[in-house]
Amino acid sequence: MLCIEGETLVPGSLAALPRLVTLARSETQALEMAGAIVCSAMTDDQGEPMFVEHPDAIAELRELVDQRLQTRPADYIWGFRTLLAIEGQFHWSATFGDFSDDFYEVACPHCSLDVTIAIGGYGCYSAYRDWDAGDVDRRDLRPASVAELDGMGRWMYNLAVRDGQDQLAAGITYLMGRAECPRCASVFHIAGEYAAANLPPLLSVRLARSKIG
Ligand SMILES: [Zn+2]
Repeated sequence: MLCIEGETLVPGSLAALPRLVTLARSETQALEMAGAIVCSAMTDDQGEPMFVEHPDAIAELRELVDQRLQTRPADYIWGFRTLLAIEGQFHWSATFGDFSDDFYEVACPHCSLDVTIAIGGYGCYSAYRDWDAGDVDRRDLRPASVAELDGMGRWMYNLAVRDGQDQLAAGITYLMGRAECPRCASVFHIAGEYAAANLPPLLSVRLARSKIG
């Protein structure tokens, strides 16, 4: 029985989580299904009930995924994204690539130009994406130094370094670094602008409410 259809959580699959996590101690497929349920729940308004109803299962799942990551599996990024979801970082979990050839769209906070951010084999740059000419007016990204990393950035970086994921660790320093706008030349923090524009609707509503309250 598959619990996930596309990005949507099928009713009842959350209830199956504790049993799946028990199976996941010895079965990789159960681990992947449990992880998929958690990732789906975090993007589907079910995140809070899940943590309230199944704290032990979530804690064990976190441990199992962490153990799997330390074996440096071929699908490392899958476990990495699952851990991010468990940590409540679902906007990163849902968008994170492995930085082999990742592109992000971020609006310049000063002139509102849609800036293309490339991190990967094509280079690490900000640019204006012209549909005929490609990425034009490229500017080199300015990666964060390891000392500058804090919060989730530092947590993600340390995890990638622990497990020998050099490409991922380097990509995180670029994502947590700064970019120059190709039009107005202002310099801004990529992650901050990206997260602000890509918070899920539910959380945006909550933030708006808490401001009013
Ligand atoms: Zn600009």
